[in-house]
Amino acid sequence: MNQQTSGSFFARIKDHLLHDEENANLIDSTPLALMHLGLLMVFFVPFSWFAVAVAAFLYVLRVFALTGGYHRYFSHNSYKTGRVFQFVLAFTGGMAAQLGALWWAAHHRHHHQYADTEQDIHSPVRKGFFWSHIGWLLCRKYATTELARIPDFAKYPELRFLDRFHAVPPVLLGFGLYFLGEYLGPRYPGLHTSGWQLVAWGFFFSTVLVYHATFCINSLTHMIGTRRYNTKDHSRNSLVLALVTLGEGWHNNHHRYPVSTRQGFYWWEIDVTYYILKVLEGLGVVWDIRPPPEKLYEEATLLKAQRSTFNLQRATSKGG
Ligand SMILES: [Zn+2]
Ligand SMILES: [Zn+2]
Repeated sequence: MNQQTSGSFFARIKDHLLHDEENANLIDSTPLALMHLGLLMVFFVPFSWFAVAVAAFLYVLRVFALTGGYHRYFSHNSYKTGRVFQFVLAFTGGMAAQLGALWWAAHHRHHHQYADTEQDIHSPVRKGFFWSHIGWLLCRKYATTELARIPDFAKYPELRFLDRFHAVPPVLLGFGLYFLGEYLGPRYPGLHTSGWQLVAWGFFFSTVLVYHATFCINSLTHMIGTRRYNTKDHSRNSLVLALVTLGEGWHNNHHRYPVSTRQGFYWWEIDVTYYILKVLEGLGVVWDIRPPPEKLYEEATLLKAQRSTFNLQRATSKGG
């Protein structure tokens, strides 16, 4: 197993590269490395606010497809939708170049089963930040989809197709952006855009941001923030991470009750994915959205009271 809990950053990378069982695989790591290299393109194309807007739109669209689709729908079945919108979620999430919905959800189900134990593939508590954030994704060992973990969705041939040909949605996005920029550039000169500019910002820049927002859920949400519920794992709640990931930062709430569609349990726990899903519910696109049950609110109140009593006792004993 990978023991990378100490040593400098570079020592950890070296240790990771040389490791026998979970070493980085050159072929599997290349797309991720190229995506980060492609980011440099933004320095070689002329700037435009239109390109920034496209990048922002594609960030929100794909983070929603990952949080509302890959996570809350495919991994946890927390609400229902029809076969067409299910495909739309899988395809749009696929444009984030994080492999297919079946691969993603099967690994995430594994995470919930073994969260922060030795078997957890990406526990920062067990294996450190670098490994949980990106290291495990560089290994061939974790590149295959365990279809047995996700029979409820693996039965759909179109989802198996997207899992197998997972490069199709991101490649189509890249070409689509190029042709959009080439079409708009000469026709609307005020936009100051071009094909390569939209590829640089909308594809490379935006996709790398989506990567790290998603990866933070595997790494930082088990490291920083507060713990409302005494779950067996180290999951935490963080407003900053919830804002960046459209609601996934309420990770301690989520580990306490994974089948709740809503992850921000209170009005002040901002959960943009949930708001979007509520709108889609109003439109009849999704249904059977699940809120957290009442017993979880009672449990939260009880735990809060217990903690304040404990803190009061500690303060009194210190003062005395
Ligand atoms: Zn987790
Ligand atoms: Zn989950």
